Amino acid sequence: MSTLRKFLEKCNIDAEIAYEEPMAAHTSFRIGGPAEAFVKPRTAKATAALLAAARDFGVPVATVGGGANLLVADAGVRGVVLSTELLRGLSRRDDGSLYAEAGLPVVDLVRSAIRDGEAGLEFAAGLPGSVGGAVYMNARCYDREFADALLGIAYLDPLTLEPATATVERDAWAYKRTPFMPGGALAGALILGARFRLTHGDRAALEARAAELEADRATKGHFDYPCAGSVFKNDRSFGRPTGKILDELGFRGRRVGDAMVSPKHANIFVNAGRATASDMSVLIAQAIAEAKAAFGIELEPEVVTLGDF
Ligand SMILES: Cc1cc2nc3c(=O)[nH]c(=O)nc-3n(C[C@H](O)[C@H](O)[C@H](O)COP(=O)(O)OP(=O)(O)OC[C@H]3O[C@@H](n4cnc5c(N)ncnc54)[C@H](O)[C@@H]3O)c2cc1C
Repeated sequence: MSTLRKFLEKCNIDAEIAYEEPMAAHTSFRIGGPAEAFVKPRTAKATAALLAAARDFGVPVATVGGGANLLVADAGVRGVVLSTELLRGLSRRDDGSLYAEAGLPVVDLVRSAIRDGEAGLEFAAGLPGSVGGAVYMNARCYDREFADALLGIAYLDPLTLEPATATVERDAWAYKRTPFMPGGALAGALILGARFRLTHGDRAALEARAAELEADRATKGHFDYPCAGSVFKNDRSFGRPTGKILDELGFRGRRVGDAMVSPKHANIFVNAGRATASDMSVLIAQAIAEAKAAFGIELEPEVVTLGDF
């Protein structure tokens, strides 16, 4: 029995645990080698207990939500991959706001708000991934971002591992930038859930808007192949969207093995069959090098990598 397995059995955490679990099954790219242990705590308390025990025993832990923005190495991930998948509660707070646990899929949150005739989240209709991932990334779509809709965030303090809450200080949140990212004031904190600001809306109108956005995503080819959405961030200083820059470089349809640039959108890289993380990272490196050589532009990946590259 492996040392990690012994450790986890000793901890007796309230969680579902799988060993040598293929991460390809947990990422929207459908790419990634095995997680040494893939652990899904059933409660926030069990999540904190797992993090505390792992810290005491020096076991590395990587948190994943829906895996919709992740490129996982072919060799997999050592230590524990903590999945928030089972933390998916949704409740109404006394002030009328909606509280969603981190693992709840964003599409379920949006659907639920619309069903109750509440406006403010429909911009995220059809957005793959979890509430925790969308907060961590400050996911942005159709000119709105998560920070616009957030009232507060519940998280585990990275030092004490005690539950804590934060309000959204707008200057710490920017385009694809949040305090939970490396270098931020809350770096390393595990997001437990988020509270959303919603207003009364017309259910039929909200449903129509959500359907319109979902159809737009489908037209743009978001769901044609396994992918992770846009690979690179946009940057106003580039003077045009990153997809346009990659188009100018002739990237549309470019392939490395089965890693391919979407024929419909040059900033979306897809798994056209059996792409490996190594294929995908070569394609990403080519885009970075060619944008730099042709335009002096430094493309910054939006996709997060996990494991050794
Ligand atoms: C078809 C498609 C379309 C997309 N369109 C868009 C779009 O329009 N706009 C956009 O912004 N993105 C888009 N994306 C990317 C993706 O949907 C978002 O980045 C999403 O918010 C990622 O959420 P996730 O739960 O899958 O995060 P994951 O991919 O699981 O993780 C991403 C990062 O968040 C961290 N994280 C996740 N959960 C937690 C937590 N509870 N606590 C702390 N850290 C956590 C992880 O450690 C990792 O660093 C798209 C992806 C796909 C596949």
